[in-house]
Order: sequence, then structure tokens, then C-alpha cells
Amino acid sequence: MRFVSTRGQAPAVSLPQAIAAGLAADGGLYMPQHLPVLNLRHFRDVQTPPAVTARLLEPFFADLPLQAALQDICNEALQQPLPLRTMDTPGDYLLELFHGPTLAFKDIGARFLAASLARLRPPAGALQTILVATSGDTGAAVAAAFYKVPGFRVVILYPQGRIAPRQAHQLGAFGENVLALCVEGSFDDCQRMVKSALQNAGPDRPLSSANSISLGRLLPQMGYYAWAALQHQREYQRLLSFVIPTGNLGNALACVLARQMGLPIGKIVLATNANDVLPRFFAGGSYVPQTSQPTLANAMDVGAPSNFERLRWLYGDDMLLRRGLSAYAVSDAVIREVIKASATHTAPPPCPHTATALQVLSQLRKQGDTRDYAVVATAHAAKFAEVIEPLVGHAIDTPSPLQQLLSRPTESEPMIAQDTALQQRLLRLAAH
Ligand SMILES: *Cc1c(COP(=O)(O)O)cnc(C)c1O
Repeated sequence: MRFVSTRGQAPAVSLPQAIAAGLAADGGLYMPQHLPVLNLRHFRDVQTPPAVTARLLEPFFADLPLQAALQDICNEALQQPLPLRTMDTPGDYLLELFHGPTLAFKDIGARFLAASLARLRPPAGALQTILVATSGDTGAAVAAAFYKVPGFRVVILYPQGRIAPRQAHQLGAFGENVLALCVEGSFDDCQRMVKSALQNAGPDRPLSSANSISLGRLLPQMGYYAWAALQHQREYQRLLSFVIPTGNLGNALACVLARQMGLPIGKIVLATNANDVLPRFFAGGSYVPQTSQPTLANAMDVGAPSNFERLRWLYGDDMLLRRGLSAYAVSDAVIREVIKASATHTAPPPCPHTATALQVLSQLRKQGDTRDYAVVATAHAAKFAEVIEPLVGHAIDTPSPLQQLLSRPTESEPMIAQDTALQQRLLRLAAH
């Protein structure tokens, strides 16, 4: 299987090349040249999330040396529990993706990327630096996935004052091969600095990105959708539809790919925060990237979703694309209401991201939609305790992986928002 650029001006590459490169040479994003369609019999003998994921991803790894390691890579990436819980209303489910080391779904993609890159690295190769700009959860997931992995170093850039205090603490608490840089600027500044460092890196300075455009993060995310939909199909012989909290569209795109490959997935509905570029587009408007505005669901504060280019490429036509998906925006005021209302439930309250999807599902129910829907729970409430505890009026138990990080000292280096500042810091790091 070859991987092609969405812009069509770069040569097709193999999967390891696509994973290592991040962005294609023409500035586009890599996509599989074609999507194999698998029937349900193909999955008859696989039951667990790692086994389903390995079976699903086999065609992408065919004829590669990495193929022999695919099952092990999936075992490492999808080791966390992935409960598909029933909610109060029949037909409403919650797919919990937050039981990994940093309590957000990004752990799965980050671990898959780390497990793949560790096996692709030549035994005596140079130290590889993984650069990542984060508006919240990505940095911690990538740091945890590469923490103490021999041959790798992680450099995280985050915007000062724009991420939750616990998230900032988490990023600086790893130490060892993880360096946290606190940038005096916006998330967009962080992303620009990473991009410029990647473009200016010589062959003697192996740098790769772990941002949400990475295929190594996108592919494994198809696995939990496949697993949940197959489980539902086996039990009820019905399709499972999904409502997905969406920012850069990486999580939702994985669901779209799984559906295109023949998995029993019904509707795919995107929930955004007040950054409503996608809802405007899917309601029939044109696609107009905006500057992002800060909201309570900060990991979704995206004004120009990077994976939209992949989605457009996949459908080839905006009218078809609008038929394939829908999207709704949820304001901070409503996010607060949803979290408050959950205080009467027995389960832990939703995080602000998950709250957007819960709200969209209740809107769909009011419109008379009776399909079976799973709301995708992307993070644990404890990551956003400062927001949630005052709303629900009680403390939230902090799961032990987060507790451990929060009890460690934290250290990050301030950096001005200039491309050269990062480049100079990387040179100093390489000289060590
Ligand atoms: C990253 C993130 C999202 C958005 O996911 P995308 O793949 O960028 O659309 C939603 N919720 C949480 C908790 C996240 O960390």
C-alpha cells in the first residue's frame, strides 16, 4: 500500500516514510492511496480491541518489515480499558477513551506512534527528537508515550496561560527525555515554530512531529470505532452511530475511514465548541478558517482544523461530504449546563469536551432521531477539575496516573514566540 499527498504534487511513499515525514513535501497530508473494504466475516475470529485493530490495519502494513510487529504495536497502543457503557436512555452509549496514562484519547495514537517509531529506528541510529505543539492533551500523551524510550527525546511547546494549570503541571512533570517549553504566545505560534524547525532541520538533526496530522496517530484511532461498532453489531445486529467531540478532526476522521472500510457504523456527527468553522461548512456555508477563540473545551480550540484537508480529499466533492457528516457547535454556557446537570447522575461528570457531544446527542433525540448512538468520551473530568468541581459542587477523584504526575515537581523553560528561539534551543540540545 502506498500513501499519497492530499495536494497531489509529492511522490507516493511507503507507510514508514509517511509516518516519519509527517507533512508531505508539497505541504499536503498523507492518505492511503485506496481504502480496502472488509466484510464482517473478516473480523469473525477477533474479539479484543488490539486484535480487531491489527486485523483492520493489516492491509496498510502488508509487505513491510513492520508487519510482523503489528500485533505487538496494537497490544501496546490499545492496552487501556475501552468501556462502551449504556446511559440512562435506551440506545445511548458512552465510549470511554480516557483510561490511558494521561486520561485522554490521544494516549492511544501517541502510543501507537511511539511503538512504531521505536521499531523503525535503526539500532545505532542518531537520537531522534519528537517535536510537538500542544493546546492541552497532545503534549502529555506524546510525552508519556515516549518517556524513557531509548533513542528518543520529546520537546513540547505550549502557550503560556492558555492551558489548564493541571495540564501545564503534567507537561513539566516528566523530566528525563522530555523538555517542556512554555511559549510566550498562542498555540498558533507554537505550531508555526514547530513547522519552521522541521523545515529547517538538516539530515544530521533528525526531527519528527507528533502533531495530529501524523498518520501514526490517525490509523490506530480507527481501531476503537471498529471494535465498538462490531461489538454492537454482534449483540444487536444494528449499526452504531457516533457523536464525536471535534477540534482538529483527527478522531472523527478515523471514524470516517473505519466506516468507509465497511465497518457497521451509521451516522457520524461532530460536536464542536464555539469555534464553529465545521458547523458552518456542514450547514451549507463555505469553509472559512477563523482565528481560534478560547473555550472551556480547550483541546478543541481550533479555527482551522488540520485534517479537514484529508476529509475533503476523501470525498472529492463538498456536496457529498456534507451528506456524509453533520456538525453542531456548543457554547461555553451550555457546556456548563450539561456538566451541572450531570451532578445528579451516579457516573463521574463529563469533561467539557465530552459535554459538547452529550449536548448534541440530546438535540438529536429532541429532533426524533432514534438511532443507536455512542457519545465519544475523550477525556476524564479530573483533568479539568478547576472547571468542573465548582459546577457539580463536589470533588472529583483523581485517577492514579494523573495523581502521580501531579505529585511530582514540574519544570518548564520559558521561550519567546520566535522561530529562531526554538531553533537555537534545539541546536544546544543536540550539542549535549
Ligand atoms: C484533542 C482532543 C479533542 C479533539 O480531537 P481532534 O482529533 O483534534 O478532533 C477532543 N477532546 C479532547 C479531550 C482532546 O484532547
